[in-house]
Amino acid sequence: MISNDITVVGSIALDTLETSKGNRENLLGGSATYFSLSASLFSSVELIGIVGSDFPDSGWKILKSNNINCDNIEIKDGKTFSWGGRYSDDYSTRDTLFTELGVFETYKPIIKNSSNNNGILFLANIHPSLQLDVLNQMKSNISMVVSDTMNLWLDMDLNGVKEVISKSNIFLLNDEEALQLTGQSDMDKAGQDILQEGPDTVIIKLGGKGSLLFSKGEQFHVPCVPDIDVYDPTGAGDSFAGGLLGYISQYGFADKQEALIHASAIASYTVSDFGINKLLNLNLDTIKSRVDMIKNIMKD
Ligand code: AMP
Repeated sequence: MISNDITVVGSIALDTLETSKGNRENLLGGSATYFSLSASLFSSVELIGIVGSDFPDSGWKILKSNNINCDNIEIKDGKTFSWGGRYSDDYSTRDTLFTELGVFETYKPIIKNSSNNNGILFLANIHPSLQLDVLNQMKSNISMVVSDTMNLWLDMDLNGVKEVISKSNIFLLNDEEALQLTGQSDMDKAGQDILQEGPDTVIIKLGGKGSLLFSKGEQFHVPCVPDIDVYDPTGAGDSFAGGLLGYISQYGFADKQEALIHASAIASYTVSDFGINKLLNLNLDTIKSRVDMIKNIMKD
């Protein structure tokens, strides 16, 4: 057991979601929330972020009762970041209905008394300048930097995204973002191109088609858990990252395939219900059956 601490910076949000299974308002969400709940199945997690004075007691209760250190979550007068999304019936596309930054708009993280002792830092999907700010403040406390992004930042601050990539040991992104970032039309070439930007490992998430890992001398595909009845894909990528880094914090990254299989298994729970619901009652024994399902497919 390695048992490294994990620190994450990212959004804590109130989400409004429309999927073919129904609509929900003001659900606890955000990239850092999905990540933390998934990673905390393996390790203690420190969350760096901001919420408004409207953040509900139920949100605090969920974070604090799940092994998540909230000392570096700032509370500011104003509204918590909120985001609305609508999915197409087959979940292949998503429209953003609104993004209300609220207290996030002027957020300037000041990290006090980090509990992370030479562990992992995850820069979840937020503005690259915030990711870099937190990286600079945490530098001496961490041994591994892992980051994620979204198309919005590729459009708005490509240089910032590239700087984050160059400072990351592992960089995660989805298939569309990988093609947009590299200008390639072939996913293998895109993965190899991003690897040249500096990270040791690049992971491209393929939605319902699994994920691809690229590192020097190694490249492989890990499928998703089959036949999942999808209710809401929000946060699947962040849960994948949480499962991945949770696994690495406990067992290291020598067996990359095993780490990605755990990440994929945990993401499969997230999409099986709205918001964070399915993550709340998970434990490592429960996920074992889905880990085994993925391994069985990979044997064929
Ligand atoms: P994902 O489905 O992995 O893209 O993550 C969805 C989560 O990202 C939702 O819970 C949103 O609250 C959050 N989110 C959406 N847009 C942004 C943004 N511009 N910055 C930070 N977080 C965001």
